[in-house]
Amino acid sequence: MSQIRQIALHLTAVLFLACLIQGELAWISELPGSRMPEEQNDADIFQEYQLAMESVWEELEWFPVPLSDTNPQAEVAFENSWMAERNYGGKRRHEGTDLIASIEQAGYYPVVSITDGTVEKVGWLEKGGWRIGIRSRNGNYFYYAHLHSYASDWKAGDTVQAGELLGYMGDSGYGPEGTTGQFPVHLHLGIYLPLGADQETAINPYWMLCYLEDRKLVYAY
Ligand SMILES: [Zn+2]
Repeated sequence: MSQIRQIALHLTAVLFLACLIQGELAWISELPGSRMPEEQNDADIFQEYQLAMESVWEELEWFPVPLSDTNPQAEVAFENSWMAERNYGGKRRHEGTDLIASIEQAGYYPVVSITDGTVEKVGWLEKGGWRIGIRSRNGNYFYYAHLHSYASDWKAGDTVQAGELLGYMGDSGYGPEGTTGQFPVHLHLGIYLPLGADQETAINPYWMLCYLEDRKLVYAY
């Protein structure tokens, strides 16, 4: 076979393959649903969630209720009550975890910030009572509710260190400002990520609290 014929054959083969591939591609693009969607696909959403969850895990520093240096009876218990039914203010689902005090005394247990961050919301909420909301460095929102009192005169924008005293556990909420005693003394913790269509997605703090159980500060109380 002459060299020219060889080259000609080779070129023909290449052209034939190119045509086949193009035909294949054209055929694929005709299939319904095979086009890349304009909007975010599942892989992107999954990655966004994964990154958001990692952004929470990496900034967790301290369990929100320190141990007492003198009273071994001062404990808190919590269970996975994610999305359990709540009835105050209409039927709704529990978007958080409750840390229940073993000593039923409002104002006794200190509540500290789990993360570094900035005070975003502070003051009374009908459902949350005296609450404080901390926006963490990674942009996540940590919501501490039903406090008895605040450790200082917090203002929006104040900087908070992980482990810093925010206030004291109580039983405030479920009514007009100052209402207490509608439920046992506990801390309600909520964690919200700037994620998804509403730009705020509640996640279950239970697993974060399990992880933080080995990371408790000791406070004098
Ligand atoms: Zn709760």
